[in-house]
Amino acid sequence: MPTTTSPNDAIVIGGSYAGLSAALQLARARRRVLVIDAGLRRNRFASASHGFLGQDGRAPGDIAAEGRAQLLAYPNVRWLDGTVARAETQGEGFGVALDGGHTEQARTLVIATGVVDELPAIEGLAERWGRGVFHCPYCHGYELDNGRIGVLAVSEMSMHHALMLPDWGSTTLFLNEAFVPDEAQRAALAARGVTVEAGAVARLVDTATVELRDGRRFALDGLFTMARTHIASPVAAQLGCAMDEGPTGAFIRTDAMQGTSVPGVFACGDAARAAGNVAISVGAGAMAGASAHRALMFG
Ligand SMILES: Cc1cc2nc3c(=O)[nH]c(=O)nc-3n(C[C@H](O)[C@H](O)[C@H](O)COP(=O)(O)OP(=O)(O)OC[C@H]3O[C@@H](n4cnc5c(N)ncnc54)[C@H](O)[C@@H]3O)c2cc1C
Repeated sequence: MPTTTSPNDAIVIGGSYAGLSAALQLARARRRVLVIDAGLRRNRFASASHGFLGQDGRAPGDIAAEGRAQLLAYPNVRWLDGTVARAETQGEGFGVALDGGHTEQARTLVIATGVVDELPAIEGLAERWGRGVFHCPYCHGYELDNGRIGVLAVSEMSMHHALMLPDWGSTTLFLNEAFVPDEAQRAALAARGVTVEAGAVARLVDTATVELRDGRRFALDGLFTMARTHIASPVAAQLGCAMDEGPTGAFIRTDAMQGTSVPGVFACGDAARAAGNVAISVGAGAMAGASAHRALMFG
């Protein structure tokens, strides 16, 4: 990767909730910040975002757009639309290369790339992601208005979903041949009033109606399932950042200051925790931004 004189103190990779929040702290510290963003927020499939204080029920894109506008009002912030393909240590700092070859350097990096959801391969599911099919009860459970809720099992871990969701409506667990509950699990499900349906799911239709392969149909107001998650970019791995394994996939290991195992590299948002949401990403971003500033001041 060729080196050039760096106009950046910090590069933030990923310009959604976590990255915007990190960049805002650095901007307010009068540091020169570059945000590089590929524009693929995880929640872009949903029409409303819930549970973030002050923005409850607002369109997810509007929250991000307002954050971006407030950030770009600082003259010491630059923004590049694009994807970082590579990152490496260079002397006292770091170099990044975008798809297309453009390179940038900085003394610190903040990785806020989020995750990509790998959805269960069921006909009709991907089209309903974020509309009739969800993963987070706190984000979308309340709007189901105590209605008919399904849980599509992907493994034994779906017990967790099934035992939670009765707080949001009458719940049916569709085993879909993913696992067979033992006696204790059946008792726990019964104690929470969960109905269990065996059999493979053929497809989803309407809002979230489940059709089993044996022909039975279950009309639902919403269906919850667990996606496998993958960190949206290989840059943390390229830099040698240590990872941890969460219930849905790997995430970047960070300390209480959002520092990764590589000095000068910070990470925040969904890419750096087992399960996240907008509020937690914004909080972690603020910490990552302040920590990157601290590293710039004191090494
Ligand atoms: C369907 C759905 C609905 C949801 N609803 C809610 C809700 O109601 N309330 C709530 O609190 N949470 C909700 N969430 C969770 C929420 O979307 C995430 O917690 C949040 O988006 C995480 O923010 P982030 O900034 O870490 O990552 P993201 O918002 O995913 O943003 C990451 C950004 O980094 C960019 N990026 C990735 N790789 C690169 C690269 N190599 N170079 C440059 N840029 C890159 C991406 O394109 C993207 O713009 C929902 C999630 C889903 C899937």
